[in-house]
Amino acid sequence: MSALSSFYERIHQPEYTGENRCLPCTAVNIMIAGALTVAVAIISPLAAVPVVAGSLAAIYVRGYLVPGTPELTKRYLPTAVLELFGKAPEDTETWETIERMEYAKENAINPEEFLIEVGAVEPCMDGMDICLTESFAGNLADRFETYRSTGVSNESLAALFDVSEDDLTIEDRSYPAVTVNRRVQKWPGDAALIADVSTHELLSETTAQWGDVPLSQRLNILKSLRSFHELCPACGGEISIGSTTAESCCHTYEIVAVECGDCTERLLELDPEVIESAPTDSGITA
Ligand SMILES: [Zn+2]
Repeated sequence: MSALSSFYERIHQPEYTGENRCLPCTAVNIMIAGALTVAVAIISPLAAVPVVAGSLAAIYVRGYLVPGTPELTKRYLPTAVLELFGKAPEDTETWETIERMEYAKENAINPEEFLIEVGAVEPCMDGMDICLTESFAGNLADRFETYRSTGVSNESLAALFDVSEDDLTIEDRSYPAVTVNRRVQKWPGDAALIADVSTHELLSETTAQWGDVPLSQRLNILKSLRSFHELCPACGGEISIGSTTAESCCHTYEIVAVECGDCTERLLELDPEVIESAPTDSGITA
C-alpha cells in the first residue's frame, strides 16, 4: 500500500461517505468551507487556494469538514430542511407513496377489491376490519416455515423485483437490504423480508393479474399486508407493537415498531403521527 493510499484509508470515513453521505451535512460543510475561504482570501488570496482545496478534499473523503456536524444536523436542522435533502423520517416517504397510490387507483388496482377477489383477504369476524382468509394465511404459514429453514434465495428476491439475479446486489448491513437498479431496497428485519417474499409468491401463483400490478404498488401492498400476520413469519412467535427511537444519518425520531416478541425481528416501522392522521376505515392503504 502506498503512503498516499494508507493516509486515505486512515482519514476516510465510510460511515459518512458514499451511499451513507449525509447530504445536509455536506451542504452545511461546503457553506462553512466557502466562508472560511472568503475569510482567508481577504487576508491572502494565495493562501485561500490550499484552504478551499483542503476543505473540499476533507468533505469528499471524510463526509464533513467540521467534526460533529452529522450529530449537529441530527439535533438542530429542522425537519423541513431535512426533507429537502430526502433525510426526513422514512415513513413519511412511505405514506406519501401510499397516498400517491391512492390517487393512481384509476390506473392501478384497488388493493382491497383485488385482494378480496383473489381470496387473500375478507371482512374479519367483527365485521370492522379486513383479515387474511384462513386458506391464504395457512398457505403463507407453510411458506414462512420453508423460508425459516432455507433462508430467502437470491432467485426469490430477484422475482420480487421483476429483475434477473445479475441486477441484484445483496448489501452487508445489520438488516436485510439489496440494491436493485441502483436503488437500495430494505426491510426492518427478517420477518418483513420473509413476509414480503412469501406473500408475493403466493399471490403470483394465485393470479396472473398480480404480475400486471405496477411494481411500486405491489411493494406497497406487500408492506401493508405485513401488519395482517398474527404470528411472526421468521420464528412463529407472537407479534407485539411498541414504540422505539429510530435513527437515520441526520435525524432521530419516534417510530411504532411491529415486531416479534420472541426473535425481535421487525415486520414494520411506522411514524406514529402519520398513523394518527391516516384514514382508519380500510385495512389496506396501498
Ligand atoms: Zn419471530
